[in-house]
Amino acid sequence: MLAEGKSFITLQGMSAEALLLAVKELAERPLPDGVAPTVRDGRAVATAFYEASTRTRLGFQFAARALGLDVIPLDVSASSVNKGESLTDTIRVLADYGIAALILRHPDTESMTVAMAASACPVINAGNGAGEHPVQTLIDLSMIYQRFGRLSGLKVTMTGDALHGRTIHSLIMALSLFGNSITVVSDPGLRLSSDLGSSAVRMSAPKLIETEFLNSGILKETDVLYMTRVQAERGSANRPIIMTEKTQQDLNPNAIVLHPMPRTVELPEWFDTDPRAAYLHRNRIGLGVMTYVLGTVIGGGRKA
Ligand code: ASP
Repeated sequence: MLAEGKSFITLQGMSAEALLLAVKELAERPLPDGVAPTVRDGRAVATAFYEASTRTRLGFQFAARALGLDVIPLDVSASSVNKGESLTDTIRVLADYGIAALILRHPDTESMTVAMAASACPVINAGNGAGEHPVQTLIDLSMIYQRFGRLSGLKVTMTGDALHGRTIHSLIMALSLFGNSITVVSDPGLRLSSDLGSSAVRMSAPKLIETEFLNSGILKETDVLYMTRVQAERGSANRPIIMTEKTQQDLNPNAIVLHPMPRTVELPEWFDTDPRAAYLHRNRIGLGVMTYVLGTVIGGGRKA
């Protein structure tokens, strides 16, 4: 649910109508403005990133500034987390100091549930372990909508680390609501189906197939190629699915290539000059999305 005063944790239970409304509102306003800046004197939001982040961490900081909010960034490495402080106790400090929203990224999938229980203010899920990343999905949907003018009837191919990739999990949940065909290509050790935690994701996507190789038959049919890296920090050492010159040649000329970033070996920089390299627009669109999400949750922004 994306609404004023509510935590934004998961896409489960969110309707296709609400998602489409959010994406349409985002498409209607010039990006990266998101929502109209509104000065909210004396209100602060906190960011707490227990995992590395460039785009989401900085993006929410920029978004908060655009909305006239102060940002209190929790420096996890300098906090009492190093002394064994629990997530609950850390979040209580921020909550007791009166923040208006908490933007949290944490390696545990359960962290959002813990955080919501400890926090009096809404929590925005900026990534919970190998769980979900709903903010990234709004960015991905906005990019798909911008190119195709719809979110339905598309052939979407997702590659890389389906087991740990929370952006893949959230995107499958969202795209399933609109009746798209999804093909997930990964090393067999990184399949969705091998992760019990992903069974809900899998069940939500009836038109989903998993396979091992990104062959030309798949590429010719693909509208959206969604590439992801293999997540070494979660213990993956499996084969990545790499953009090669052959991949480039075989890919549908009208497709777009998306990537949530950061990229490693799977998406070489030489592909950046290809007109299908839509991931290059991700940062500007992402800033608009983060401003929209924060503005909606804090209030005063339009609701989805
Ligand atoms: N930035 C994305 C995430 O936090 C994707 C990734 O890390 O590979 O999930």
